[in-house]
Amino acid sequence: MLKKLFQSFRSPLRKPQQHVRTTPEVLSSSQHSLQRNQFSRYAVNIVERLQTAGYQAYLVGGCVRDMMLGITPKDFDVATSATPEQIRAEFRNARIIGRRFKLVHIHFGREIIEVATFRANHPIDDEDEDSNQSSRNESGRILRDNVYGTLEDDAQRRDFTINALYYDPVTERVLDYANGVHDIRNRLIRLIGDPQQRYKEDPVRMLRAVRFAAKLDFGIEKHSATPIRPLAPMLRDIPSARLFEEVLKLFLSGYAEATFEMLVDLELFEPLFPASSKALEHNPTYTHTLISDALANTDLRIKQNKPVTPAFLFAALLWPALPARVLRLQERGMPPIPAMQEAAHELITEQCQRIAIPKRFTMPIREIWDMQERLPRRSGKRADLLLENPRFRAGYDFLLLRESAGEETDGLGEWWTDYQDANDSGRRDMIRDLGSKPDATGQGPRKRRRSSSGKRKRAGVDGAE
Ligand code: ATP
Ligand code: MG
Repeated sequence: MLKKLFQSFRSPLRKPQQHVRTTPEVLSSSQHSLQRNQFSRYAVNIVERLQTAGYQAYLVGGCVRDMMLGITPKDFDVATSATPEQIRAEFRNARIIGRRFKLVHIHFGREIIEVATFRANHPIDDEDEDSNQSSRNESGRILRDNVYGTLEDDAQRRDFTINALYYDPVTERVLDYANGVHDIRNRLIRLIGDPQQRYKEDPVRMLRAVRFAAKLDFGIEKHSATPIRPLAPMLRDIPSARLFEEVLKLFLSGYAEATFEMLVDLELFEPLFPASSKALEHNPTYTHTLISDALANTDLRIKQNKPVTPAFLFAALLWPALPARVLRLQERGMPPIPAMQEAAHELITEQCQRIAIPKRFTMPIREIWDMQERLPRRSGKRADLLLENPRFRAGYDFLLLRESAGEETDGLGEWWTDYQDANDSGRRDMIRDLGSKPDATGQGPRKRRRSSSGKRKRAGVDGAE
């Protein structure tokens, strides 16, 4: 009774839900461009079977959005009123995954179709406020997201209007609860509901807005863009493992260069890469060029279907933050090589507190950086040994990247390019010619008997200053 009374006092203060209708706009097959046979036949079969069994089922999310835009979808997701157990009862090849929120994966050879039960947003209700089982934290972030709901609820809890389109391949109708078709036509990323509240519920949505804007070449609608800068620091509270996944999606989707510009502009880069963001402030041209060139390369490789390694990407994103740290350690009396090692270690450790880069990537990052110390030392058998090093290619590419960003290396990249092209006798000549160059002899800073100061002109990070 009393609770009801309080509720009625409180409700006028709640933000009205915008954009989501209780009855969807229904587009018949003549009103949209989708065709059933464009979708994965496995996904279509799943929808048909679920519907035959008496459940509601639709293709949903990215696949509907991408198809409307003429883009080949990455995967096909199905949303249904059937519970995970009911779905599994229908399909022999179905596996329930996830503990917190169960999803079903249905396997067809190498193709996996993800089937999710309609979900609802956790309401901001009184139980939450006075129970210690709260589904949100004090800033409004959703901690639990495991309530089943109706189709309408499911549309409402989705992030962007363009991601809340449901396609029924049987009737070939599209259900649009949030004016998503309108936003697709106008090329706009728009949050469903009150943008500030939706970002607070899940700050990762700010990154998703940028990801889709870059991938689809859409604008972020004004009301959805404005809260991002003030709320960007909320990303600091997101578990680092989730951020790692999101950052990979941001930078490995083929639109990393545009994504980076947008992240910086919307002040989302700082909470993700604090040290690199500082470097961007202190040394803008160099840092910006190095990172954008690395990302442009990555985008190109993805378009050409060439493999890309997250290690190279992180190595580039963090490299501009190294020199300041090396200097600081050197000023405290540490010799250059240990200072470089220590700075690299510190930087990666700090970065991992924000973004949990797994060891299988941090190791190669270090190796790519170490290679920068070794590439100038080419005398005797060193050059050939380096060529055989499995990290040589990444190290060499990284050297070229540093040069393209304006680092002075005294033609080291070109030397290595020529060396790889040369035949045996050409290579011998090239090594002999190095004799006169003190830095190339290998008698540089690694040898204790030489004093370390002033000898690292071309080694490692010096040129980045
Ligand atoms: P793509 O797979 O092409 O990157 P997508 O839209 O399919 O894009 P997913 O991350 O696969 O993106 O998510 C599937 C759907 O789940 C989205 O379309 C969206 O409706 C919903 N969704 C995903 N993450 C969130 C989130 N953080 N908040 C609300 N809804 C979300
Ligand atoms: Mg998807």
